[in-house]
Amino acid sequence: MKCPKCGNSHKKKDGASCSSCGRTFVFFPPSPLMTDMRMQTLFRRVTASGTYEVLEAQLYGAYARHAKKPGFMGPVLGLVAGLALGVGGGLAGSPVAVVGGIIALIAFIVIVARAAAPAGPPDPRAFHELVAQWRRAGEGAGLIAARGLDKAPAQAREQDVHDYGVEQVLVVDDDLLVDFLVRNHFHAETRTAVVASSGYPAYVMPLVERALAANAETPVFALHAAGHHEDDPRALVPAGLRVGDHPFIDLGFRVADAERVARFAAFAEAKDVGAMRPAILPPKVLLGALTVAMRERMPLAVPLGVSEIKNPDGSSGSDGGGDFLLFHLDSDFG
Ligand SMILES: [Zn+2]
Repeated sequence: MKCPKCGNSHKKKDGASCSSCGRTFVFFPPSPLMTDMRMQTLFRRVTASGTYEVLEAQLYGAYARHAKKPGFMGPVLGLVAGLALGVGGGLAGSPVAVVGGIIALIAFIVIVARAAAPAGPPDPRAFHELVAQWRRAGEGAGLIAARGLDKAPAQAREQDVHDYGVEQVLVVDDDLLVDFLVRNHFHAETRTAVVASSGYPAYVMPLVERALAANAETPVFALHAAGHHEDDPRALVPAGLRVGDHPFIDLGFRVADAERVARFAAFAEAKDVGAMRPAILPPKVLLGALTVAMRERMPLAVPLGVSEIKNPDGSSGSDGGGDFLLFHLDSDFG
């Protein structure tokens, strides 16, 4: 196991502290699920070396994307060796044939079991525990672990939206997604008031009301998980907020479209609709795709590479341009 602090190759038998720098390993003994080096790499990759503040869902998304099924190399070699021993021993009339037969049988059972194992994404609860363990050890910089906007932020920050002026409203179905967008300055860069369906953060709601009252053309966008209010996206608007005749754009996700987003392929295969939500997309991809989708007033799935969008009535509409953006967004992010 490699020490994430000094890079030393540490031997498990030498204990839980790095034999070179003394750092205590968080995951000790290392499990097949996680090592210190792997968790550190995951954080570095998803935060883009500290460029973004990220959600646990985004770490999980990257973890699930890179999780591998156990390989077949070992048991296949075992099967070949067992058969060779069995056949060779049998021809020579040696009792070794029985041992070979047993080895081949065990290898065969392992192969069948691994082939039958669900290929699905790893358990998000198990992953949550691993992240909690990492945080308890004082690690995890860059993780947005809890809501932080229940009180209006300090003056300097609040001025973002005031200074630029709110030009559009984004309603999301996940409070933490508001924190993600605000902490990564999406709201200021796109002049967007971001609120959750719950009405969080409370201090933004008056801003939203003012922006809607000031201009009848101020658009309202809804962003939600696949299968969540996809037939009545207006239900996502916080209670008491009157959207009236303002342009209303449903950004998705609709299940039929989310299933065709390449990044959700593993979840689609596992019929895990709950995982097909915006918060699981890598920061740069989510921020980039959301900016384009709102500017072009198109479903988020389009800049994510789905060119044929399923309309609510079952027909399909086409909108080109997605492929270029997919290439662009994928270019330097795993
Ligand atoms: Zn070390």
